Amino acid sequence: MTGVHATAAAMAEALADGSVTSVALTEAHLERISTVDGDVHAFLQVDTEGALAQAAESDARRERGEVRGLLDGVPIAVKDVLTTKGLPTTCGSKILEGWVPPYDATVVRRLREAGLPILGKTNMDEFAMGSSTEHSAYGPTRNPWDLDRIPGGSGGGSAAAVAAFEAPLAIGTDTGGSIRQPGAVTGTVGVKPTYGGVSRYGLVALANSLDQAGPVTRTVLDAALLHEVVAGHDPLDSTSIDHAWPSFTDAARAGAAGDMSGVRVGVITEMSGDGWQPGVLARFRESVDLLVQAGAEVVEVSCPSFVHAMAAYYLILPAEASSNLAKFDAMRYGLRVVPEGDPSAEEVMRATRDAGFGDEVKRRIILGTYALSSGYYDAYYGQAQKVRTLISRDFAAAFERVDVLVSPTAPTTAFRLGEKLDDPIAMYLNDLATIPANLSGVPGISVPNGLADEDGLPSGFQVLAPALADERLYRVGAALETLHEKAWGGPLLDRAPALTGADR
Ligand code: GLN
Repeated sequence: MTGVHATAAAMAEALADGSVTSVALTEAHLERISTVDGDVHAFLQVDTEGALAQAAESDARRERGEVRGLLDGVPIAVKDVLTTKGLPTTCGSKILEGWVPPYDATVVRRLREAGLPILGKTNMDEFAMGSSTEHSAYGPTRNPWDLDRIPGGSGGGSAAAVAAFEAPLAIGTDTGGSIRQPGAVTGTVGVKPTYGGVSRYGLVALANSLDQAGPVTRTVLDAALLHEVVAGHDPLDSTSIDHAWPSFTDAARAGAAGDMSGVRVGVITEMSGDGWQPGVLARFRESVDLLVQAGAEVVEVSCPSFVHAMAAYYLILPAEASSNLAKFDAMRYGLRVVPEGDPSAEEVMRATRDAGFGDEVKRRIILGTYALSSGYYDAYYGQAQKVRTLISRDFAAAFERVDVLVSPTAPTTAFRLGEKLDDPIAMYLNDLATIPANLSGVPGISVPNGLADEDGLPSGFQVLAPALADERLYRVGAALETLHEKAWGGPLLDRAPALTGADR
């Protein structure tokens, strides 16, 4: 009987050969959630009734021979930043407490149309601002590898749900690394697709020019399967690309042979040195050696502007966020705080925004409003946009020489809860390696890259490809997965202590 520890691809096969039903699979995951989520807190909402109803529909469709696709009947968790019709969507913020969207995000609609039962909504840093999920107004998510550690952020809920076998698949969003960095620190796979490859309609915007939704899974093939479900042109998103994507699953299956001959790999010079944990770098170099042994041609590639990526990001992101968050004005959505007496509309807005937004959100609204103000626009926002162009030029030059660029996904393994909470800069540094891809719109994947510190915590290996060449992530990611499994003798997640105990 296929249980929660199977891959999504294996679950899909079991559904197809009739050895399991979607209802049984969905029940098993709901059971797993009720057993472990009190500790992990990956979910903000669990939709037991809705998920079981969708599972029953999937089983009925299968009986009638009307299966909608490979993943029909495989359950999934969705980050709480995507709107779900009839199911609360909070973005991890008090300001949206109790808001029930009247419509589905396109990604969610596609999941429903493909028949994936939605288990619930996952925890996140408020409005996706953070690298640890500690900025959630509803309390932090914990890393299944060590419950005293952070699961990464902002999509720590999605990554932890998948790492703790509460869901075989999840959707995350990545504005500066929020799919890939949680993937790295929880030993899961995370993909940020090419900007515009997956619709942003119904994704509550953090920074429109950077946000992209994508898969969070335990294997590269599972990510490819899910990516194929959610990708595609959407007339409701003006930045959505109309492109004939090649098969991501074919690329993953080809890559799984572990043959890298003919693939040119560039190691980004700037992503090592000070601030990078030695174990993370050591695992990274070992994986590069595995790629070389598998036939890849590896060269070092310098991308000199990448060292300015974080500074540019923390001007562009707050600028866009401050403008996006202006719509939470106490009139249209969620929370409304009415001060005593006869308050003006402005006083209601002020009281609501003061009570509804957390410190990190307020910090970025102030930063963004400042950067956009008339006297400072050229010096800050305008300058940051120029840096963004330089970063895209570095990518363009690099991709003339190599097919993919690689680096560690995050500079460190999972840190302890509370360790960086009062130090915004230390928190921001987690995304050093992931931010350039968002600034330039190129796709990236993080694959589990071995245990990288004395506490046995996981790290991630990042692969970046040119825009529209997402299939390369699957080719190289799957190859590395195969090479790793040979080297480690099995999937990395099997070695997660909090998951390998009696409850497994
Ligand atoms: N950690 C980064 C930030 O705080 C990235 C967030 C994200 O990708 N949503 O902005």
